[in-house]
Formats: sequence, C-alpha cells, structure tokens
Amino acid sequence: NAPLSEVDPEIADVLERELDRQRGFLEMIASENFVPVSVLQSQGSVLTNKYAEGYPGRRYYGGCEVVDVAEELAIERAKALFGSEFANVQPHSGASANAAVLHAIARPGDTLLGLSLDHGGHLTHGMKINFSGRLYDIVAYGVDAETSLVDMDEVRRLALEHKPKVIIAGWSAYPRQLDFAAFRAIADEVGALLWVDMAHFAGLVAAGLHPSPVPHAHVVSSTVHKTIGGPRSGFILTNDADIAKKINTAVFPGQQGGPLMHVIAAKATAFKLAASDAFKERQQRTVSGAAILADRLSQQDVKDAGISVRSGGTDVHLVLVDLRDAAIDGKQAEDLLHEIRITVNRNAVPNDPRPPMVTSGLRIGTPALATRGFGDAEFTEVADVIALALQHSPEKPSADLEALRARVAALADAFPLYPGLQQ
Ligand code: PLP
Repeated sequence: NAPLSEVDPEIADVLERELDRQRGFLEMIASENFVPVSVLQSQGSVLTNKYAEGYPGRRYYGGCEVVDVAEELAIERAKALFGSEFANVQPHSGASANAAVLHAIARPGDTLLGLSLDHGGHLTHGMKINFSGRLYDIVAYGVDAETSLVDMDEVRRLALEHKPKVIIAGWSAYPRQLDFAAFRAIADEVGALLWVDMAHFAGLVAAGLHPSPVPHAHVVSSTVHKTIGGPRSGFILTNDADIAKKINTAVFPGQQGGPLMHVIAAKATAFKLAASDAFKERQQRTVSGAAILADRLSQQDVKDAGISVRSGGTDVHLVLVDLRDAAIDGKQAEDLLHEIRITVNRNAVPNDPRPPMVTSGLRIGTPALATRGFGDAEFTEVADVIALALQHSPEKPSADLEALRARVAALADAFPLYPGLQQ
C-alpha cells in the first residue's frame, strides 16, 4: 500500500500537473465543472471495491448492506431534487443513461426524432456511427438558419410525417430554453414518447432557474457532472411506473453490470448539495455570467470583427459564438484563447462551411468559473478579455496577448482552486 508517488510516479505526475493546469487556466468548457472535495473523497474511497449488481435490497452479491444506504440516499435525493416519482442513479455516464433510455422505450428499427448533431444535438440522439444512429431510424430536426432557434412547427411537421416512436428534446450546444409542453403536445398528437435529455441544464432546473422537463416528459435523462457539478456519471427520472420498471431492467442487466458504488455515493452528495441555497446562488451567477458574456460579445467592436452571438444571447449557462464572417476559425479561436489560458471548445455552427476538426464557432460556458467563485464583476472582466482576444488574428494582430494573459492570471489568482489540496 505504498503511495501513488512511489508506485507510479508517472501517473502521480499527471495528477499533479492536471491540478496545476486546472488552477492556472480559466475553465470555460460549457460541459465541465469542479467537483467539491467531498465528492473527490467518495470517488477515491473503498466503495470502489464493492460489487453490487441489482438494486438496493435486491442484490446479486452479498455484503451490500452498507452500499445500499448510499444508493438509497442518491435515489431519494434525486427524486426530491427534481420532483420525480422514480430515479435510477446507476448509469456510468450520460451516454450510458441514454442507451438505457432507448433500450427501455424503443426497439431497434424504431424511428427517433431528435435535434441533429451539427445543430447542437448529442451523439446519442442519432449520430450515424453512434449506437443510436446504427440501431434506430433517425429523423433530425434543426434550428432555424436566421434565429438559431428550434422551430416547433418544423418539429411537428416532421413528427406528423415520420410518426416517430420517440421524440428527443435536449442538447449539447443550444443557448435557449426548450418548450417542453409544446414537445409533449406534439408527442401526444403523433403517439410518440417524449424523452428529455437535460444533461446540460439539469443544475439550472434543480435551482429553479430553468423550466423542469419532469412534468412533461415520459422520461428524463441527465449527467451529474455538467451544471450540477457532481461526479462524472448519469441518472434517469420518470413519473411513469411502467417506464420506471423498464428503465431499471434496461440499466441492469440490459446495459450495465456492477454499478460504480463510489460514484453513486458521490452522486448522493452532489444531489444533497444541489438542494442548498449556496447551489442556487451559484447557478444564478452561472446564468448571469453567461448573459454578461453574450452582451459583451454583441458589442460593436466585436460585431465589426465579423463575430456574432448565435440566437442573439442566452437563457442558460453557455454562449455560442459564430465566427463564419470572422478572420479566425473555431480552431484558431480555441488555440488563441488557450494561449492566454482560457479553455473553451470549438463548435460547429449549422451548415458549417468548415470541417468538424476546424469549425466556425465556439461554445463558451460559465458553470466552472461560477463554482470557482466568479460573480458579475469577474465575468465582466473575462468577457472583455475574450472579446479582445477574438478580434486578434495572425494576419491582423490587434490585441496585446501578454496583457490579456496577465488579466487572466489575476482572475485565476484571486479565486484559488482547491486551496490546500495536494494530489
Ligand atoms: N447528453 C448530452 C445532452 C450531453 O451533452 C452529453 C455530454 O456531452 C451526454 C449526454 C453524454 O454524457 P457523457 O459524456 O457522460 O457520456
């Protein structure tokens, strides 16, 4: 039982260097967050040793009486947080949760209607080489070319034409709220089931800052590690007793073997924290920070550089930047921000003229910085740094990158990450 630094110095070095990187950069990837130390503790605990196939009280292994408590707490807290009748907290990830949802409510060959990947949907909503695209017949709706918004008339038209078994509402890159009641009305009209994937905005729902899909959807899936800021994993909710049974069977033994009990314990803690006032206040700073960023990136100097904010703003925790008319592409913008120590990801815009490894857009999110403690003043400062950096290009160097890097470093230093923690 020698420490990691002795057993495997190379991996110990990776842990240390990654902690340094997270401390020194401003993390603005919309799907990332920083888990609290309490969550790190469960994930690095002896619970990782335990096999617990089955569900609390109905396991296929002995010695589960202690880990049962963790899973029961996670289930009850998830149900209370989102006001649902049922929760399954075993999915290892968002993608596993989604695989289980489809396993439960559709059969291979059924038609699914979801938001297309290049308009902001997720791989598991029907991408061609993902299991969803291989097993199911996919029809995709997109966003309107002018407004960048989902057009519910188009969703209804496609639903009436293709009569899908499942309609999927949810996204990985969309800056606005979806109308879950309208989706449900269309699903009812065509006899489809409505599945909402709230992976991105679940934290906002928990804080009451975003409409809840739970009363409208037949089934809701989510991750725990994006806006919620818990361990990397997934969960599934429903109010329908029949679908609940199918979900349990689909997760285990349908899709998974033994659940990750150390992660489930960490989920329980994350759900407990998500019910607190401090969590709500953090989600408010998250949304407010995104609005500040959208506002700064809509100012004249940015517009003059051919840069725009898709949909003209945001209601959530992220901003989508359109660089189709800018001097730099998505890859160059991502690299440029990396150079001044801000981490974002490039993102295709609908009908992107550039290839997926380059793209003409950026997705910029505020959850991780809100967790780090940023409020309106800091988001105003980082928004200005980003606005100036994006106007810079190798051909037309306009910004003093050294000065921008110093402004980033001042923000990072003012909000130390995991103070005192050593890896
Ligand atoms: N669903 C949505 C909407 C997502 O954005 C993501 C992650 O990007 C997932 C599911 C998948 O989550 P994971 O990466 O944990 O498999």
